[in-house]
Amino acid sequence: MPLSFQPSPNIARLKESATLAVAARSRALKAQGIPVIDLGAGEPDFDTPAFIREAAARAVEAGATRYTNTEGILPLREAIAADANRLQVQGVPVTPAEVVVSNGSKQSLYNACVCCFGPGDDVLIPTPSWTSYFEMVELARANCVAVPGDAANELKVTAEQLASAATPRTKGLMLCSPSNPTGAVYSASELSAILELAAQRGWWVIADEIYRRIAYEGGAQSVLEIASARDNLIVINGVAKAYAMTGWRIGWSIAPVAVSKAMTAFQGHTTSNAAAVSQHAALAALTDLDRANAAVDEMVRAFRTRRDAVMQALDAFPTVRYIRPRGAFYLYVNVEGFRGADDPGAAFAAAVLDEHQVAIVPGSAFGTPGWIRASYATRQDLAVEGLTRVARCLTAG
Ligand code: PMP
Ligand code: GLU
Repeated sequence: MPLSFQPSPNIARLKESATLAVAARSRALKAQGIPVIDLGAGEPDFDTPAFIREAAARAVEAGATRYTNTEGILPLREAIAADANRLQVQGVPVTPAEVVVSNGSKQSLYNACVCCFGPGDDVLIPTPSWTSYFEMVELARANCVAVPGDAANELKVTAEQLASAATPRTKGLMLCSPSNPTGAVYSASELSAILELAAQRGWWVIADEIYRRIAYEGGAQSVLEIASARDNLIVINGVAKAYAMTGWRIGWSIAPVAVSKAMTAFQGHTTSNAAAVSQHAALAALTDLDRANAAVDEMVRAFRTRRDAVMQALDAFPTVRYIRPRGAFYLYVNVEGFRGADDPGAAFAAAVLDEHQVAIVPGSAFGTPGWIRASYATRQDLAVEGLTRVARCLTAG
C-alpha cells in the first residue's frame, strides 16, 4: 500500500514562505507573458560586483571545490571579525572563534533559534516582523510572542512594550534593524534600552543586521556598538543584501564561543560548510575594501534615490499612509478597511495583482494584516509605476 504522507509534528504548523511564494507567483505570471511589476521579494536587482565574481572564478581554478571546516574558512572568519571590529565595538574585540559562516543569514538565524530556544520557551518577536522568524522559532519548538509596535513609532517596539509582553518563560527576542518589512531603524537609545532590559532579564538577543549597510539617514547602528557585553548577543549578518549576493548563500553569526560551538555542531549534522567558492567570493567582498565600499555606496545611493521617488509618488495621494523607510528597501503601506475584508492586506494584494498587475506581499505574512509590503529594489520607473498603481487601487477602494 502506498504510504500517505502525514506531516510530522515538527512541521505541523509550517507554512510556505509568503515572500518567496509571491516571487514564485510573479515569475510564473511573467512566464505566461503577463507584464507583472514585481515588488514582492526583497532582492537587490544589481549584479554581484565584478571584482567579487572574478575572485570566485579564481578561487575555483585554485581548487576551492572541496569541503571546508563546517564553521567556514579561517580567512573569511578573520575578515568577518575584522569587519565587525571596524565598528565601535564595545568591550573586547570580536575574534574568529565567535564567528560561524553558514549558507545565508537565514540559516544562521535558524541555527541560533534551534540552539538557544526550545520547548516551553517564549520568544518575543517585535511585529511586524520578517515572516521567517515566526516559523524558525516554531521549528525550534518554542513559542512566538508577537509584540506589536505602534504606527506612531514607525511600528517599532520599545523596551517597555517588550517588558510588558514578557513572561517567566521568556528566553529571548528577535531584533531586526533596519527592519524588514518596514524599513524602520532603531536609534542608539532605543537599542540601548532594549539591550539593557535583555541583559537584566538574561534573555538572548538575536540581532538580524542583514540590512545594516542599507540606511539612508545617518546610518543604522549595530548592537555591537551599543552593548557593553555580548554574552547574550547573537549578531547575524551576511553578504546577500549589501553586496547583491543573494544567490551565493553566505551568512554568519557572531556569538559567544559556546553558542558558536553548538551552532557549528548543529550545522555539521545538517548542511556542513557553506559552498567553498561562495566563501571565497564573500572573502573578496570583505577584504577588498576600496572596491567593496565603492560598490556598496553606489547601490545604496541608487536605493535612496528610488526610495525618494516612490515616497514622492505615494505623497501625491494624501490619504495613503505608510511608514517612512529609513533603511532596507521596503515600503510598508496601511490598507486597513480595504473592501471590508477580514484580511485587508491579502485582499488588497490579490486585487492589485489581478487588476493592476503589481506583486506585493500581504502584511499578514509579517503578523500585521492591515498592511502590505512593497519592495523598491527594482528599476526606478517600475517601482514608481507599481506604487502609483498601489495608491490608485487603495484610494479607489
Ligand atoms: N533576514 C531578513 C530580515 C531578510 O529580509 C532576509 C532576506 N531573505 C534574510 C534574513 C535572509 O537572507 P540570506 O539568507 O539571503 O542571507
Ligand atoms: N528577504 C527577502 C524578503 O523578505 C527575500 C525572500 C525571503 O527569503 O524571505 O522578501
